Amino acid sequence: SDTKPQHFLQHIISQDLADKKHTEVVTRFPPEPNGYLHIGHAKAICLNFGLAEEFGGRCNLRFDDTNPGKEDQEYVDAIVEDVRWLGYQWDGEIKYASSYFDTLYEWALHLIREGKAYVCHLSPDEARAYRGNLKEAGKDSPYRNRSIEENLADFEKMRAGEYDEGACVLRAKIDMAAPNMNLRDPILYRIRKMNHHQTGDKWCIYPNYDFAHGQEDAIEGITHSICTLEFADHRPLYDWFIENLPVPAKPRQYEFARLELNYTVTSKRKLKQLVDEGHVDGWNDPRMPTISGMRRRGYPAAAIRKFCDMIGVTKAASTVDVGMLEFAVRDQLNESAPRAMCVLQPLKVVVTNFDGDAETMVQPVHPNNAEMGERKLPFTRELFIEREDFTEDTSLSRKKFKRLVLGEWVRLRGAYIIQANDVVKDSDGNIIEVHATLVPDTVGANPPEGVNPRGVIHWVSATQNVDCEVRLYDRLFNDESPDSGDKNFLDALNPESLQIISGAKAEIGLAGAQVGEAYQFERAGYFCLDSKNTRADRLVFNRTIGLKDNWAN
Ligand code: ATP
Ligand code: MG
Ligand code: MG
Repeated sequence: SDTKPQHFLQHIISQDLADKKHTEVVTRFPPEPNGYLHIGHAKAICLNFGLAEEFGGRCNLRFDDTNPGKEDQEYVDAIVEDVRWLGYQWDGEIKYASSYFDTLYEWALHLIREGKAYVCHLSPDEARAYRGNLKEAGKDSPYRNRSIEENLADFEKMRAGEYDEGACVLRAKIDMAAPNMNLRDPILYRIRKMNHHQTGDKWCIYPNYDFAHGQEDAIEGITHSICTLEFADHRPLYDWFIENLPVPAKPRQYEFARLELNYTVTSKRKLKQLVDEGHVDGWNDPRMPTISGMRRRGYPAAAIRKFCDMIGVTKAASTVDVGMLEFAVRDQLNESAPRAMCVLQPLKVVVTNFDGDAETMVQPVHPNNAEMGERKLPFTRELFIEREDFTEDTSLSRKKFKRLVLGEWVRLRGAYIIQANDVVKDSDGNIIEVHATLVPDTVGANPPEGVNPRGVIHWVSATQNVDCEVRLYDRLFNDESPDSGDKNFLDALNPESLQIISGAKAEIGLAGAQVGEAYQFERAGYFCLDSKNTRADRLVFNRTIGLKDNWAN
């Protein structure tokens, strides 16, 4: 917003534009297609696309697909859908790291010809020993000083598939004594005899992230290459490649703190484990912190963008309360969601002094927005109310129980005040019906003297409604930091994170509910149709979120 102070990246960009260092801002969002995007990625998306938007620049969507073993077209497709759904449009065509493999290969040859790269045949264990550690300088590989010709020939053999996986790697010749371990002759290329989802069998050597990322930024004319803090130590290497290669531009890397949320796991690897081991119903399970999960759960894209804006962008790592995300969701839905009534655990009420057909009650679709229109609710002799909204216990105070008590009154939302007179029980003593009488002339009017309703409850007609299944979600993890320290995040799984209620009864208008639309079920929360389990003859609603923040209690 206009009044909010600039965060450090906005400040840097403003300065670069003012100094004419750049005439246009170009950013990129570079996901690896090895899983579905999560809320952490949403922050990176909002940041990169948001900065481009704000400064009139462009943002690329680039798949960082240098690791064929873990990547898949399914993930590419899901990521494209998620970015679009969040409301962003990338510049031009979708980009792939793999489409630069030819150029990267040429640049590898360039380094070899300059005496700045060599093929190394140390085994992984040997290479580790040679690398040294933070206290101790490394030792030069015995392959480090072979001739340029030998290296060119050997790298050609690597490329031609003459070596097995792991037999050798191409390394940059930088400094085995560098205090920054990333500069101790890092790996540029390794052998992977795998089919790649974009390049098929063309390559059996693949560049490492570090050898690919900055060069891709240069090729695409990225001005500000924004990544998370764990890459700060890689920046000298990023710069080394930019300095030592004939790249067409000199992009710069900037780091910000990744988003961590309490009660939430944001690691693709761990989310994949939840999916693969069947702890959840796929990547888009409504309990998952994935963008597709949040979409299926009913989180509006605008709420996710708002949340990313609220938490800001800093260089200091911190954990954000997941309640802030829920606040943003609730806030957005409160403004936009049509209201409806749905009884989750129906208890029949027979209005004994109501004879004849249905009487139509009229309610606004939204209490604060008349433009959204009106809804019609059939009031009939037999109704359903929530089982928990009735009690025979007359000792409960009016303050504690603002619902229907035997012998007393309650207002049915948008309809009559009723009085409970009697109950019918089954042989086990369970209440199966409440017999009540309505107080005449109380629709939209104050009650007469002596009639004192305890509160307002929701209801539906027992004869004109839609049957539905309702799914209530709780946190997927019971632990505030499920994957910190040496905890096994699976131990923190909440066994009660999904509650399925069948036989819920919703107001008749919900027969026309559409996937992708949000509703407020009065007093019960915000709901949306489940895109996966709903059929024409079977409505399944997900509770997106409750009406109030209950976590504090
Ligand atoms: P994960 O650890 O979940 O696998 P990643 O960083 O390996 O995440 P990428 O696909 O490489 O996943 O991420 C694409 C972009 O999203 C990167 O620029 C990365 O820095 C950013 N990103 C990933 N996780 C977060 C997060 N929690 N907060 C902010 N940005 C993130
Ligand atoms: Mg990554
Ligand atoms: Mg990763």
